[in-house]
Amino acid sequence: MKFGGTSVADIERIRNVGRHVKREVDAGHDVAVVVSAMAGKTNELVAWCREASPLHDAREYDAVVASGEQVTAGLLAVVLQNMGLNARSWLGWQLPILTSHAHGAARILDINGEEIVKRFGERKEVAVIAGFQGIHKETGRITTLGRGGSDTSAVAVAATIRADRCDIYTDVDGVYTTDPRVVPKARRLDKVAFEEMLELASLGAKVLQVRSVELGMVHKVKIFVRSSFEKPEDIDPHGTPPGTLICDEEDIVEQQVVTGIAFSKDEAQISIRRVQDKPGVAAAIFGPLAEANINVDMIVQNVSADGKTTDLTFTVPAGDYQRSMDVIGKAKETIGFERLDGAADVAKVSVIGIGMRSHAGVAAQAFKALADRNINIRAITTSEIKFSVLIDAAYTELAVRTLHGLYGLDKA
Ligand code: ADP
Ligand code: ASP
Ligand code: MG
Repeated sequence: MKFGGTSVADIERIRNVGRHVKREVDAGHDVAVVVSAMAGKTNELVAWCREASPLHDAREYDAVVASGEQVTAGLLAVVLQNMGLNARSWLGWQLPILTSHAHGAARILDINGEEIVKRFGERKEVAVIAGFQGIHKETGRITTLGRGGSDTSAVAVAATIRADRCDIYTDVDGVYTTDPRVVPKARRLDKVAFEEMLELASLGAKVLQVRSVELGMVHKVKIFVRSSFEKPEDIDPHGTPPGTLICDEEDIVEQQVVTGIAFSKDEAQISIRRVQDKPGVAAAIFGPLAEANINVDMIVQNVSADGKTTDLTFTVPAGDYQRSMDVIGKAKETIGFERLDGAADVAKVSVIGIGMRSHAGVAAQAFKALADRNINIRAITTSEIKFSVLIDAAYTELAVRTLHGLYGLDKA
């Protein structure tokens, strides 16, 4: 069972979590719980690091931001003990959860679940594990898994102890056709295929961290997304509660062409105007960006207004925008171009569905619908089960709602 920030936002909510856990224990299950920090806590800790120094040591950043989960793990153990259950908290280093050395974005390498499984058998002890954190074995330093990383902690723990299921309790009762906060007409999906969830998550639906979906797919963990706000006492532990199961494609009987729509405003566009059209130009542009560790996403190349040179447009994460402009600016001589334009107020809207593999013209419909709304498309990318368009950020909601209706995803 994993509980996110809003589900543990105060002591009353932690008690509510305690009742969810007790229900499962009373039903005869062994339970490992992974908790996030209280809502807003991680943001506060991140802000404190920046305030202390805009440029700070990533190891110390992790030491600070991992602390939020320590508090909620301890508090939940206290609450469970108070309810008469055996419970013990575990920090990343105590299990341990071993990770790579990439501070701030570490990957889980191995988890030792022996001790908690032993305690299930010996005394029915609930394990309360701090999400988001681990330890780098060689240096012994605390690491964190990137924002939203508690989902990944939960799926990794579930895989290690061979759990029957990994329930992700959050503030919505499942995965919706798009963010229900933006589109009230969004519908809850009963099942989503791993591959689709991977695309939804990586293209902006933050309900699950991408890495948690990858792990679930590789280790065949049954991930079930559900709400922590339902009354724990009203739920039949042996029944089927409302929620979304992330599963294999074959387990979905009625596959729609389009499953969902994701969007992200964390993009920035860069256009290099009147580049000399000759071999090696793309390498001269994208080489330095790669060296600077900047991820380029969409790329469009077209003929310039003068017909002799070429224009190159691409997107980078918004956080890397200024750095990217500087890198390209510095390489002006080697690349050979006339002008550099950029825009940070852009958004990427993506349409996802396994059904696209066998249906033609799905993207074409979207282009027409967006044109009818006078929404200009700045760039497009497509792959087998998704396509994305880059538009002005101001039109994000309109575009998402338009496409949601177009593909028949609106609630009846
Ligand atoms: P937690 O703190 O429990 O980890 P998050 O805030 O990380 O919760 O993720 C849940 C949020 O994800 C929801 O409140 C919702 O606004 C957002 N979200 C975005 N896209 C979707 C989607 N397709 N389905 C459900 N929720 C979504
Ligand atoms: N508390 C961490 C964050 O906000 C991890 C998580 O909530 O999943 O990113
Ligand atoms: Mg989350």
